[in-house]
Amino acid sequence: DGRKFEKGEIIRLALVDLSSYFALVPGGILIILFNNLFQNFIGLFLGFFIYFLIVYIYRLYFDLVSLNDELTALYDIGVSFISTLNEEDLVKKLMNAIKILIPRDVIVLFLYKDGKLVPEAYEGVISAPVPDKEGQELLCKVFYSGKGEIIKDITKCKECTKYFGDGKRGSALLVPLVNKDDKFGVLMIGSRRKGIYKEKHLKIISIISHQAAAVMTNVHLFLETKEMAITDSLTQLYNRRYLFSEFKKISGREDYKEEISIIIFDIDYFKQINDEYGHLIGDEILKKVALCIKNNVRENDIVCRYGGEEFVVILPNMGCEEAFKVAERIRKIIERTEMAKSEDGLGIYVTVSAGVSSISVEDDMERFLKKADEALLFGAKRMGRNRVVNFKNIDMPL
Ligand code: GH3
Ligand code: MG
Ligand code: MG
Repeated sequence: DGRKFEKGEIIRLALVDLSSYFALVPGGILIILFNNLFQNFIGLFLGFFIYFLIVYIYRLYFDLVSLNDELTALYDIGVSFISTLNEEDLVKKLMNAIKILIPRDVIVLFLYKDGKLVPEAYEGVISAPVPDKEGQELLCKVFYSGKGEIIKDITKCKECTKYFGDGKRGSALLVPLVNKDDKFGVLMIGSRRKGIYKEKHLKIISIISHQAAAVMTNVHLFLETKEMAITDSLTQLYNRRYLFSEFKKISGREDYKEEISIIIFDIDYFKQINDEYGHLIGDEILKKVALCIKNNVRENDIVCRYGGEEFVVILPNMGCEEAFKVAERIRKIIERTEMAKSEDGLGIYVTVSAGVSSISVEDDMERFLKKADEALLFGAKRMGRNRVVNFKNIDMPL
C-alpha cells in the first residue's frame, strides 16, 4: 500500500537520522582530538569535515538501499507484465504496481476509446467517474504530447478536481500510456496533500507506464492475430476453421443432442455472375449476401463462410422446423435485395438455395453437416434452385 510505503519511508529516514546521531559521539571525540592535535581552527575544521563526510556516506548508503528496493520492485512488476495476454489483466497489474510504488489517494486509468479518454479503472474516487469530453484539456495534452505532468496544486486542473473529494487541495501526476506510435491512454494518480509529487515519482511511474504500454501493444497484436485466424477477410464472417472448432466444442458437450440446427446456403449460378460482371462485383455480392444472412439470425447464431459462395449457419437451441423458417426468410430477403449495380447502372440480383438439418442422436458432426449438404444438393439445387429444403423431406438416404 502506497500510504504505508510513505510511512515506512518516514520511519526509515528517522532511523537514518537517529543512527547518524550515534556518530556524533565518536565525531565529537574526533573533533576534540584534532583540536588538541593542531591547537587551532584547522583542527576544528578538519574534525567537522571528517564528521560530515562520514554522515554523508552513511546517508548515501541508505539512499542506495532504498533505490535498490525500488529497482527490485520495478523489475518484479516488469516481469509480471510480460506474461499478460489480455487487457483486463494488464490493467489490474498496472493498478497494483502503482499501489506498491507511489503514495496516492486516487488512481484513475483513462483508456482511449471511440475518440474519448474513458475512465476504465479507478480507485479511491468519491463517485464512479463517467466518460465525458469536458474538462479533458490537460488529459488530452498529456495524451497527445506523450509527456507526463506533475500537478502541484490540483485546483488548476479541472479533471483532477472532478475525482478528488472536495477538490480544494491536493496534487497529482498525469502520465501517458504510450508505446512509440501506439497511444493507449493516461494515468492519473492523485493525493489529497499538496505538492507531494516530485520528479522521482514521475520517473518511476513513467517507467511503469512505458512497460505497460509496450505490453498493451502486444496484447492488441495477439488479439488481432487471433481474430484474423478465425475470420474470413472478405466477408468478416467466421471462417471454416472456426466452424470446425465450434463443431468440436458442440460434440464435446453432453447436452448437444437436444436441439441444434444447421443451414447451408449456396448462391445460385454464381459462376455466371462472375463471368458476366467480373470478380470484383462478384466479391461485392458475396459481402452483401453475407450481411443479409448475418443481419437476419440471432446474436448467438454462428455464421461462417464455408466455401467460395457457401455459407453455414449454426443455430443452437433451434429445431429444424424453426430453422427452415429462418432459412426461408433469409432466402426471400436475398432474392429481393439489390446486391450490386452493373456498369450500365442496372441492379444485380442473386438467389440462394439452402439445405437445413437438425442434429439427431446418431449424428456426429460430419454427418450433421453432410445431411444439410445433401438437402442442398439433392434437394434445393436439383429441384430448380432458389429454394430451401429440409433434410427430412428428401428421399436420398445417406
Ligand atoms: P450452382 O447454382 O450450382 O451453385 O452454380 P454455381 O455457379 O454457383 O456453382 P459453382 O460451385 O460451380 O461455382 C461457384 C463459383 O463461385 C465459382 C467461383 O468463380 C465463384 N467464387 C468462389 N469464391 C469466390 C470469391 O471469393 N469471389 C468471387 N468473385 N467468386 C468466387
Ligand atoms: Mg458452391
Ligand atoms: Mg453456387
